[in-house]
Amino acid sequence: MGKAITALLLATLLLSACSGNNNEDLAQGGTATAPAATAEVSAAPQEDAAGTVAPSASSSPAPKDGTEATIAPSASAAPGSSTATPPSSEPAATEIPLLYHMNKNYDIVPNEEGTDKKVVLLTFDDGPKEAEMINALMDTLDKHQAKAIFFVNGYRVKEHPELLKLLHERGGIIGNHSWDHIVLKDKSYVEVQKQIGDVQAIVKEITGEAPAFFRPPHGAGGDVGKQVAAENGMLYMTWSVGSLDWEMKEKDLAKTETLVKNVTDQLHSGSNILMHELPWTVEALDTLLTTLEGKGYSFVDPRSIELKQR
Ligand SMILES: [Zn+2]
Repeated sequence: MGKAITALLLATLLLSACSGNNNEDLAQGGTATAPAATAEVSAAPQEDAAGTVAPSASSSPAPKDGTEATIAPSASAAPGSSTATPPSSEPAATEIPLLYHMNKNYDIVPNEEGTDKKVVLLTFDDGPKEAEMINALMDTLDKHQAKAIFFVNGYRVKEHPELLKLLHERGGIIGNHSWDHIVLKDKSYVEVQKQIGDVQAIVKEITGEAPAFFRPPHGAGGDVGKQVAAENGMLYMTWSVGSLDWEMKEKDLAKTETLVKNVTDQLHSGSNILMHELPWTVEALDTLLTTLEGKGYSFVDPRSIELKQR
């Protein structure tokens, strides 16, 4: 009896310790949540490789035959209202041609022959955390005329709406990384809907536009994450090149060299590069981007990517 209670207490403690630690993507490399063997320097989260093949006899929300493609996104958000009255706040969308799409490996691929395929997509997860880091990241991106997606968590946005505003005003493309940074794939449809929908709402409230990109925490969104992302008109992605910055510690030496090597070791056309809002990543970014440019890569504008995977 006493034993059982102790065990239960322990389990509860452990559980709360885990869920409380939603700061970084620490598990992305391969602790608790990562299925299969993930310790190695690879990138692609296994969840999806395996996950795409009709997993567990469909839990609840039956994946309508054609998966996410069936759900028409876009217009859905605007509830009724008038037809041809574009809200004046709409910044006359500086037409950015849709030149790229994302393939099943979450790589960026040109739609047509002749479009530069030696591109990479830059992404930073788990912010917004600090104005100083955000400004430094944006300074470096500006220097290289690069755009990036910042996948934010709702609980952080709620704590610091001004940081989301800063990111947006400085030209960062905001992505949805769920509210609490939890593993979504085993959660109920309703819960996932809330985790994702609440972020859409708060970002829209602050910046005027809801995110067009979704990345599940720990790369583990499952079918339910994919479905809800599609229902919200977002492109679902994990990544294809991990910088492994989430495994680094302040005391580690030569972090810039390590980060650059981690990326260049896996580098390929269309690389979808996962980084985080972390001090050493901020510091390494200029060297990384210079290195990538030196290898002939340029940085894809996320807004030139179609919002439907193919
Ligand atoms: Zn994350």
